[in-house]
Amino acid sequence: MHGRHGEDPSEGPVSAQYAHPPVEHEARIEQLSADLEKQGLHPFHLPIGVQLTQDEHGRPTRDSICIRCDRVDGFPCVLDAKADAQVMCVDPALRHDNVSMVTGAHVTRLETDASGRTVTAVVTELGDGTTARFTADVVVVACGAVNSAVLLLRSASDAHPNGLANGSDVVGRHYMRHNNLAMMGLSIEPNETRFQKTLALNDWYLGSPDWDFPLGGIQMLGKSDAEQIRANAPHWAGRVSPEMPFAELAHHAVDFWLCGEDLPEPHNRVTLDADDGIHLAIDEKNNVEGLKRLRHELERRLGDLGMQEHHLLHHSIYMHKGMPIGATAHQAGTVRFGTDPASSALDVNCRAHEVDNLYVVDTSFFPSIGAVNPSLTAIANALRVGDHLIERLG
Ligand SMILES: Cc1cc2nc3c(=O)[nH]c(=O)nc-3n(C[C@H](O)[C@H](O)[C@H](O)COP(=O)(O)OP(=O)(O)OC[C@H]3O[C@@H](n4cnc5c(N)ncnc54)[C@H](O)[C@@H]3O)c2cc1C
Ligand code: SF4
Repeated sequence: MHGRHGEDPSEGPVSAQYAHPPVEHEARIEQLSADLEKQGLHPFHLPIGVQLTQDEHGRPTRDSICIRCDRVDGFPCVLDAKADAQVMCVDPALRHDNVSMVTGAHVTRLETDASGRTVTAVVTELGDGTTARFTADVVVVACGAVNSAVLLLRSASDAHPNGLANGSDVVGRHYMRHNNLAMMGLSIEPNETRFQKTLALNDWYLGSPDWDFPLGGIQMLGKSDAEQIRANAPHWAGRVSPEMPFAELAHHAVDFWLCGEDLPEPHNRVTLDADDGIHLAIDEKNNVEGLKRLRHELERRLGDLGMQEHHLLHHSIYMHKGMPIGATAHQAGTVRFGTDPASSALDVNCRAHEVDNLYVVDTSFFPSIGAVNPSLTAIANALRVGDHLIERLG
């Protein structure tokens, strides 16, 4: 992890500094950081998991795995330089002789003994069309927040008529996914940045002078290119700037991600219908006021950030794009943990209250989602539960 504790004004207590220094800003983002500071704000280096070794100018050194290309956000890394679960955990684990992975396998159901207290079989459809039944002392589910809930609901039985571990009726409920906006400002100066995802701003994370409730956080997105702009805003771009080719727009684009909290509501939920189809219901208007205000805070500063009175367009310009129901990237909350079995499915170790050898260790356990990307919380929790499992297994 790259980052620097102490820069983010909304940060809680920490026990140690990040292992690696922050990923340095490129020139246009360094300028943006300075302009934000001039406004009395506190931009900070975005914590990011990437296998990058930098020289004093932030350039990748010859032995760096990451080459600091322009595909850092939303693309798989062909160099395996992202510090993701596969690169940092799965691949190293597979180098041990006693670890194997079954790919192309779809778990369809968990079966229990008659008491319902112990999972006795993980029923799995294999890639060749056959069905296998795996057994284990401890079963850990981590299918992602939609599919972990689906698996438990599909595993209903006489002992668990409402779905496995679902006596509380919370499984599938409280689905959260963040209220997001992707926005693009147009810089007066060209934006030559390649690796743009280095800056974040949490000054309004907990509120603003005229709003006592959390607004959320702002961070940079990966640098947009002409093809992405063409795909996202062909009519918008053509109407505002018929003379400006997409490549020119992209050359001046500065891309922001605005993230507001989606509150846990029981009716935002994953369900199965009579034909076993998966349904996802969300209230798109859930707690959106903070995000609207966050957008306003950014919009009204665009000029002071070198993004107004554009020398080509002569006015402030931005595009914004809200996320539809299909944007499930930040899914969380459907198998929440807690101390009360009446209102949570998992205990504080992510073990099912009602099943002794069943754990759910992905973003499903979140009782709330905050307004930051979920991976680091999911990873930190998985390490915590891992320690618990080591202790349990002796
Ligand atoms: C394009 C994109 C960009 C993102 N960028 C960021 C970012 O910059 N920062 C950040 O913090 N987060 C980011 N996220 C979110 C992050 O990837 C997720 O929050 C995180 O991966 C969730 O982890 P998880 O373990 O809960 O589920 P997942 O990572 O979704 O893992 C679930 C796994 O279970 C498997 N599975 C599901 N059902 C079954 C079944 N029945 N049988 C067998 N296997 C099954 C799936 O194939 C998958 O491999 C991004 C997501 C997307 C899509
Ligand atoms: S995709 Fe990201 S992690 Fe991979 S080389 Fe490019 S910048 Fe580095």
